[in-house]
Amino acid sequence: MPAASPASFAPDSGPRSAAATPQPVDLILTDIDWLVTCDPAMTVIESGAVAIRGDRIVALGPTDQLTARFAAAQRVALTGHLLLPGLVNTHAHAAMSLFRGLADDLPLERWLFEVIFPAESRHMNADRVHLGTLLAGLEMLQGGITTCCDGYFFEEAAALAFQETGMRAVLGQGVVDFPAPDLADPSRLEDRLSAFAEAFPHADGRLKPGLFCHAPYTCGPATLQRVKGICRERDWLFQIHLNETRDETARLTAEHGEPPTLYLDRLGVLDHRTLCAHAVWMQREEIERLAERRTAVSHNVHSNMKLASGVAPVPAMIAAGITVGLGTDGCASNNTLDLFREMDRTAKLHKAVSGDPTVCPARQVLHLATLGGAAALGLAELTGSIEAGKKADLVALDLRQPHLTPLYDPVSHLVYCARASDVTQVWIDGRRVVQDRRVLTLDGDEVRREAAAAGAMIGRGR
Ligand SMILES: [Zn+2]
Repeated sequence: MPAASPASFAPDSGPRSAAATPQPVDLILTDIDWLVTCDPAMTVIESGAVAIRGDRIVALGPTDQLTARFAAAQRVALTGHLLLPGLVNTHAHAAMSLFRGLADDLPLERWLFEVIFPAESRHMNADRVHLGTLLAGLEMLQGGITTCCDGYFFEEAAALAFQETGMRAVLGQGVVDFPAPDLADPSRLEDRLSAFAEAFPHADGRLKPGLFCHAPYTCGPATLQRVKGICRERDWLFQIHLNETRDETARLTAEHGEPPTLYLDRLGVLDHRTLCAHAVWMQREEIERLAERRTAVSHNVHSNMKLASGVAPVPAMIAAGITVGLGTDGCASNNTLDLFREMDRTAKLHKAVSGDPTVCPARQVLHLATLGGAAALGLAELTGSIEAGKKADLVALDLRQPHLTPLYDPVSHLVYCARASDVTQVWIDGRRVVQDRRVLTLDGDEVRREAAAAGAMIGRGR
């Protein structure tokens, strides 16, 4: 496995002649059994350490070297642990955690139009979105997800919830051409989106607004172009569900006389600030077009399996150069927000369907859940890997467990053995948000109690 030479980590500036005077930092994590950086070379350091000042990583390397170079206000020894960057969930509808298990074992269109859309119009309001997003945040933080790309209605309420969790998030305000829970009259879309834009002065640097056109079959061409135009003016991420089911893809292809990806490109909505979720039923020319436009894809393997949508051509999309991330999708179609499970299934499903056990190897899949996902969201400069200068979004896993023993390759273990429940500590922006498996930013018991009570009401009102 790739053990780094210490010489390759001299990240902060300045000559070493002043070695006698350790530089002050706020926090140093030491004695990490395995430091899995998820940098572009997927560098792994044995017995590593990370020095943090404010919200940034200052340096990383072997523990003995870093402890000699830095004097830390706080030192946390992570003996028996593996440290990796915070995981990046590239597609979620966080508030739908309140619909967990509400409708299983249905085809997507019946699930969506007979259960989910009616439940949303009946039960979702700003308070419920806030609560559902807190519940999702609790689950994601406990499972080592530090960045989430969300898409839903009442997204200002989701923003408040994400702010409370301390997570990093892209907040896609949902758009459809029919009455939505937060917009009874779709002709007032401009007003709705203006209000959303104005709501964002409260957001801190971890929250990035964006817009989310639900799909090419729920948003007409004028809406798609207008919403993408707003995103372009503001440098916001534009999200859309694309080619999720075979029927939807065939219908749209017949309607527009070309495959949906080419139709979207003709409308001018594909570029490097567009993220397509699913991309299951993709023709060769559609894959090439996404690659040409540098448009990213979120692969949501569990959601695609549970709704029997199909198997996205992930190996072909990666080979074409498309930036791919991993998403949980909403809880109603998964039913958990656990990127360790997504990694495991991604690595295995594509082997099973291709008959080739070398496709989607562990290193590649871990990249999708970290730096690849960050790149898909336009956040690769900030997060997704443990590198000097980047935000200190870090996750520690306790390796001292039967299912993680013995350990030959930490990258393989992260994809094929680790579980969300192995996460013990999480830092975001250098601030500890999970300690000994407990989320520090939220009252977890209270959130669970309120969510269970909301679920009881939703269940009765079905
Ligand atoms: Zn989705």
